Amino acid sequence: MSDLEGIVLFPPCQRCDEGTLVPLSDFGGQGAPIHYKAWVCTTPECGFNLKIRNGDVYIDEPVSDGTNRERR
Ligand SMILES: [Zn+2]
Repeated sequence: MSDLEGIVLFPPCQRCDEGTLVPLSDFGGQGAPIHYKAWVCTTPECGFNLKIRNGDVYIDEPVSDGTNRERR
């Protein structure tokens, strides 16, 4: 048994150097889970985020409050 098993290291936030980027998952239109769709900094004041959508990577998008639905 390895002590390293089960330990996942998340990358540090490159902007604030304090937070950690954690993966978030989402659900697709058919209810299929999309794992690690976005990475977000754990520091609220920083808010750095990185996500992938339709094969394109978006860095530091404004956080949506849900009123702007994604266009299809
Ligand atoms: Zn940060």
